[in-house]
Amino acid sequence: MIKKPFLGFGKPRLDYAGVEGLGQGEVKDIPLPGRAVLFVEAPHPTVNDVSFQVGDEIKTGQNLKVSPFSKTTFTSTVTGAITDISKKTGYLGKTFLSVGIDVSETDQWDDAFSPAVQTPELEKAGLYLNGLPGISNIDALAHPETPLKTIVVNGMDKDLLVTTQQMVVKSQADDLKEGIDYLKKITGNPKVILVVPPDLSEEAAKSGAQVETITPSYPNSLPEMIMKNVLNQVVPAGMDCSSLGVGFINAEGVAALKSVITDGKPPVTKLVTVIGKNENTQMIRVRIGTPIKAVLSALEIPLEQGDRLVIGGPMTGRSIYTEDMPVLQDTDAIMVQGKDQLALNADDPCVNCGECIRACPVRIPVNMLVRLLENSQYEEAAKEYDLLSCIECGLCSYVCEAKIPVFHYIMLGKYELSLMEEAEENVNG
Ligand code: SF4
Ligand code: SF4
Repeated sequence: MIKKPFLGFGKPRLDYAGVEGLGQGEVKDIPLPGRAVLFVEAPHPTVNDVSFQVGDEIKTGQNLKVSPFSKTTFTSTVTGAITDISKKTGYLGKTFLSVGIDVSETDQWDDAFSPAVQTPELEKAGLYLNGLPGISNIDALAHPETPLKTIVVNGMDKDLLVTTQQMVVKSQADDLKEGIDYLKKITGNPKVILVVPPDLSEEAAKSGAQVETITPSYPNSLPEMIMKNVLNQVVPAGMDCSSLGVGFINAEGVAALKSVITDGKPPVTKLVTVIGKNENTQMIRVRIGTPIKAVLSALEIPLEQGDRLVIGGPMTGRSIYTEDMPVLQDTDAIMVQGKDQLALNADDPCVNCGECIRACPVRIPVNMLVRLLENSQYEEAAKEYDLLSCIECGLCSYVCEAKIPVFHYIMLGKYELSLMEEAEENVNG
């Protein structure tokens, strides 16, 4: 249970959930859905001429090119017939192609997958590996201009109450070992560090990687905190870890590579922590593409008018408006909050209590920042109050006395700034 600290008594200490006492037997398998939906991140203009159509039969593990004019591909996680293809826009303007599939009860595996990944190059393998559980974009490991020196395999979960990545470390150490060996091969043999909480250090050592432990206290598992606390490097504002030669990947993504290498098949299921009302959590294994509605129904979690459905954990998760949203390759958690548990935001003015500044791990003057963001002064917010140093932990919103949705303002500010930069680049050619 997360409890709000007494305000004025300093920084809140929020501990991550652990997997002590959780065994593989406690992972519940969710049945194959009758209908699956695959989301593929792709700019909308490139999906005007998709390479497939409604009625096409596709196989499990089949790699499909989105359009003849784009490099984007995706791997089907089910066998069946395509029933609909549409464009969608998601969080912060991300554009997707949505492919609905009537699922056959029996999988027919596509056998072109195996030889395709036996390539020693990240770029070529990435076409097939993007979209595997835990891997949304393997190409992002390496920066286009900075050589990859270190890979950090994150065996910690990003948010509170979530245990997905820790469960992988606890139960799939052998798979992690094989995955790490393959990853090194396709990325030019960088150093690999596996980051885990102290209680998983023994299991983690079986992976053969250099193991580093971190105090399981939020937000220590975020990449920028791992950079600072484990690698002694500070990520400059507006830059990401890959620009310093450090690539991050989740433990689940690395373990998933084992199935690719030894079985020649892409893994098609995802481990997900489901956080029910009253913070009851359970771990499930579910086919990627399964609508969340089917997951909640299998777990007998009812949704009532006014309840909130969230993808992710309590600090950084995002509310969604429909249960038809599918489980994606990076869906580590699904959370249901009962309408009586919701911490509602308000539009009260800032009372200058200073709690947000005390809680912020990067010492941003959040009280000043939020004033500019509330008035849509995004460039000034970046210039004067360090908007781009924010590591997106959400602690400022959590502690805000006036219940200002500070984190939402920050994410909106970053998004608006990225649009401005894009527009400027387009103007400058
Ligand atoms: S989300 Fe808030 S507390 Fe966290 S780093 Fe950003 S400004 Fe600081
Ligand atoms: S933004 Fe919220 S937490 Fe920060 S000083 Fe204002 S009222 Fe306090």
